Amino acid sequence: MNYLNLFRGGKLRKKIMDLKKDLSPCKLCPRECGARRLKGERGECGAGAYAEIAAAFPHFGEEPPLVGKGGSGTIFFSFCNLRCVFCQNYTISRGKEKIEIKPRTLAQKMISLQNAGCVNINLVTPTHYVPQFLEALWQACNMGLKLPLVYNCSGYEKLDTLRKLEGIIDIYLPDIKYADSQSARKYSGIDDYPQVAKSALKEMHRQVGDLVLNDEGVAVRGLLIRHLVLPEGLAGTAELMQFIANEISPTSWINIMDQYHPTYLAKRYPEINRRITPEEFQNALKAAREASPGFHLL
Ligand code: SF4
Repeated sequence: MNYLNLFRGGKLRKKIMDLKKDLSPCKLCPRECGARRLKGERGECGAGAYAEIAAAFPHFGEEPPLVGKGGSGTIFFSFCNLRCVFCQNYTISRGKEKIEIKPRTLAQKMISLQNAGCVNINLVTPTHYVPQFLEALWQACNMGLKLPLVYNCSGYEKLDTLRKLEGIIDIYLPDIKYADSQSARKYSGIDDYPQVAKSALKEMHRQVGDLVLNDEGVAVRGLLIRHLVLPEGLAGTAELMQFIANEISPTSWINIMDQYHPTYLAKRYPEINRRITPEEFQNALKAAREASPGFHLL
């Protein structure tokens, strides 16, 4: 794993110090809300000084290349910098489930997941805790961690923070949620999602390239993109598939997801207060195949 080279060469410590400068006042994510997190304030995302998590366990429900035989060592971080009205994990993203965790304990959790046979460490929504998980990573390296790191996020990522993660993250697992800012504003409370996420995905691909699997079919490096199909074509699937084909890679790995269901606040929006139809899902797959026959669709 690349992060081991940085750790051994002393550069991981330097990156941690660098990223800690962005923690308080906080400018880790594109919101740049400026919360003085080390002085007790919580940011617009809800995050405070220490990392808070909802759960950590071997997860067998992720995409097959992330699961292998031993599962994906998944750590669910509490809070999120988006406000999706249909959030499928809203108790976690809104911080109703949270346990404060110090770096040493988080490092021990990573080692426990490795000892349990997991094939990677899967950091779910880590954006607002980047300095904290790097501090834990440094301690985990001292304890013998050697699994690939998966950065599993909403796609609403700040370029500068991503650039500082170069050489640390092995696998990027971002969503690409919307093609237009109107939907992004209405359903996730943010205007600039499309341009921010597109730039973020380009940077992720620049760092790690297309997904690479080992002989056992387990992902070891690269970009795997998730796209949740919304009712009424509101995610802009066809436009996003064209973007991925033309500006990321025509051989990208993409999980086009059909599991949308109205939850959390979605009932307030009649147009998304239903599951997608089989036809809507087939249309999404067709749009992806038309954008690039070389896509690896999961
Ligand atoms: S990560 Fe949270 S606290 Fe930091 S800028 Fe973004 S919203 Fe604010």
